[in-house]
Amino acid sequence: MASSDSKVVVLGTGGTIAGSAATAADSIGYRAASLGVEALVAAVPALAEQPLECLQVAQLDSKDMDFAVWQALAAAVAQQLQRPAVAGVVITHGTDTLEETAYFLHRVLAPPKPVVLTAAMRPATALLADGPQNLLDAVTLARAAAWRGVQAVLGGRVYAAADLRKRHGWHLEAFGAGDAGVLGLIQDGRVQRFRELRAAGPHPAAAALPADAAQWPIVDIVVSHAGARAESIDALLAAGVQGLVIAGTGNGSVHRALLQAAQRALAAGVPVLRASRCLDGGVVEGAGGALPDALPGCGALTPWQARIELMLDLLVRRAP
Ligand code: ASP
Repeated sequence: MASSDSKVVVLGTGGTIAGSAATAADSIGYRAASLGVEALVAAVPALAEQPLECLQVAQLDSKDMDFAVWQALAAAVAQQLQRPAVAGVVITHGTDTLEETAYFLHRVLAPPKPVVLTAAMRPATALLADGPQNLLDAVTLARAAAWRGVQAVLGGRVYAAADLRKRHGWHLEAFGAGDAGVLGLIQDGRVQRFRELRAAGPHPAAAALPADAAQWPIVDIVVSHAGARAESIDALLAAGVQGLVIAGTGNGSVHRALLQAAQRALAAGVPVLRASRCLDGGVVEGAGGALPDALPGCGALTPWQARIELMLDLLVRRAP
């Protein structure tokens, strides 16, 4: 446990946790990213006596998350964690792309101190807002050295960055941890941990991430479904896509119309990964080796995680 006078830095990026609605009864028709991070902290009396610093890194609905914000966020987290007085970092974020930002930070930072993302399904003005408790729990975790690495805390559950999945569009209990299950529980400031995570360093490309986010590799996701059309891949190739993830059906199977176009992508030097559009399970390769379509599966990664992974892999290939 870090000493009680060590600081937690709370980085605000917007989201519903910072949202406000016209009435307390409105949990759907609100405007996300309305309140600053200082106001979120001020709304939690139990945080008043704690050594905290707040920094607004962005103010957006996380449906609009982009690489420039990821770049700024990764830089801000790395900078804060370098300070000996800082025990850990909390990030307030929207729920829509929470799992993407968590995975991205996990892969580019693999931080030696806790980095805890939190969010809310109800705006700050709701009758029973979930944000304040989530924020308090996140600060508790960020102070505990044993929680090094990137995780998210929502509704008293702690999720490893790699396991986090948004599973419900509007319900209060919107998140799951896939087949791996939650990492732990937190109740009244007491944390119960169920398992340890394998220590892993950052992706080799982390240090080579271009400062100009416009230079990041272009990787898009195509979904396989009934009546899928080759033209969706061909159009992306024509638009200069540099890598593709196909969110396949079931165990990463791909509609034959897309397969032909995927072969054209491979022939043009554009790598293609197969993920699954199913919520859990990922892609398991057959015992006989690669499937006949010769498109590598992405294992347990979700399509959004596979996309981040492929972007980073492409950066390594690009390195001189
Ligand atoms: N659209 C919001 C966001 O992701 C949803 C939320 O935070 O719950 O920013």
